[in-house]
Amino acid sequence: MFNNLIDKVTTYFSGTDENRSGPEQRQDIPRDQHNVSRSAISEPAKKVLSRLNNAGYEAYLVGGGVRDILLGGQPKDFDIATSATPEEVHELFRNSRLIGRRFRIVHVLFGREVIEVTTFRGNAADADEEDDDDDRRTSEHGQLLRDNVYGSMQEDAVRRDFTVNALYYCIRDFTVVDFTNGMSDLKKRQVRLIGDPETRYREDPVRMLRAIRFAAKLGFTIEPETEAPIHKLAPLLTHIPPARLFEEVLKLFSAGYGEVTYDLLSDYNLLAPLFPETAAAIANGESDQLIRQALRNTDKRIAQGKSVTPYFLFAALLWPALQAEWRRRQDNGDPVQPALHSAIGWVIGQQVQATSIPRRFSGPMKEIWELQIRLPRRQGKRSLVTLSHPRFRAAYDFLLVREDAGEIEPGLGQWWTEFQELDEKGQERMLSELGSATGPKKRKRKKPAKKD
Ligand code: ATP
Ligand code: MG
Repeated sequence: MFNNLIDKVTTYFSGTDENRSGPEQRQDIPRDQHNVSRSAISEPAKKVLSRLNNAGYEAYLVGGGVRDILLGGQPKDFDIATSATPEEVHELFRNSRLIGRRFRIVHVLFGREVIEVTTFRGNAADADEEDDDDDRRTSEHGQLLRDNVYGSMQEDAVRRDFTVNALYYCIRDFTVVDFTNGMSDLKKRQVRLIGDPETRYREDPVRMLRAIRFAAKLGFTIEPETEAPIHKLAPLLTHIPPARLFEEVLKLFSAGYGEVTYDLLSDYNLLAPLFPETAAAIANGESDQLIRQALRNTDKRIAQGKSVTPYFLFAALLWPALQAEWRRRQDNGDPVQPALHSAIGWVIGQQVQATSIPRRFSGPMKEIWELQIRLPRRQGKRSLVTLSHPRFRAAYDFLLVREDAGEIEPGLGQWWTEFQELDEKGQERMLSELGSATGPKKRKRKKPAKKD
């Protein structure tokens, strides 16, 4: 306790935080030395910045918005950091709402575009006892449960995750402000955590996933000290609420770099906390070819501007777990269909302990899986019933992925490709050819099931 006090006093008088590595001198990069131009910033983001400035507050574009423009890309969204408190921001914008508990932020809404405005956050290491109330909370694992202590711009910079995410752009004088050598890391194309990596991962284990996401998306390497603790700390992700991890999984796999992301997650031990049963099945020899093929297709779709559905992604990511469990139940004597049905229930029950799966996604995911044993059964009216199933299209796409992954013999996918495009006559013809190819259509009498 005494030591703790001395630390605080030292920190207070030195004016710097000695726990943080690297030089943290403010560098102002003038407009002729960087390529951020106002025209790359959306109108709503510019509006929010100028209104805050005109009201006398400091306000900067920060995070992915600055980073992606500096890299010559198109930002996904715009984040703003300001000296105004959430209440003050809310008061300035009628079209805004206060959200969040862990981090209180303001969303300013312009049609479909949402500008996220955060107040400069204070430095965790400088937290006083009086801050130790409801504004900042830490768990027994060192995890920050709440972080609503406000501070200066420099403090805000070192509270951010990676140096390339802590660059600020000022629309008044067009400078980029850098406190953490983010510009140099951007040039080196590396993801570097600000401060002591282990401490920062313990504060928020999701930063490990974010490191992977940015490395994959930007094609950056993860700086050695930033990558070193990940293997060991990966299990900390099991302390994160399943709903937050669900959101993170979607971000990881819908940014257009799913396959690379999957490889990195596997390499860094991060697949197991997200998909425990899938990771276990793969470790036991189950193939992950279907996951890879599905992610490859997803990446292609995103590159073409198409959307991806969370239930399709999850159907693929949990497939190895389902296969293993389905087989296990059949080996125990369950017939194919009930074994599938109960394996599905079990796999979902296990998964929601790691990441939640909202019902609107788990329902369709189950249907995709259940249709996989209906797709090969095409005789008589069955094909037409399957074809009219609301989830037929997704199940058929899933079947094609299984074929492409080499999991099943090709042929069935092609059959369905043709069948769904034909008129009634054509379909009848295909069904009769099917009948003759697989022997007489006459139903065999079912033998009564043996009882023992
Ligand atoms: P994206 O392109 O995915 O939007 P981003 O860098 O903008 O990337 P956001 O999730 O939008 O990421 O967050 C905005 C900024 O907030 C980040 O750039 C980073 O500075 C800060 N931030 C977000 N999450 C964390 C976190 N878990 N810990 C510390 N800082 C964070
Ligand atoms: Mg962002």
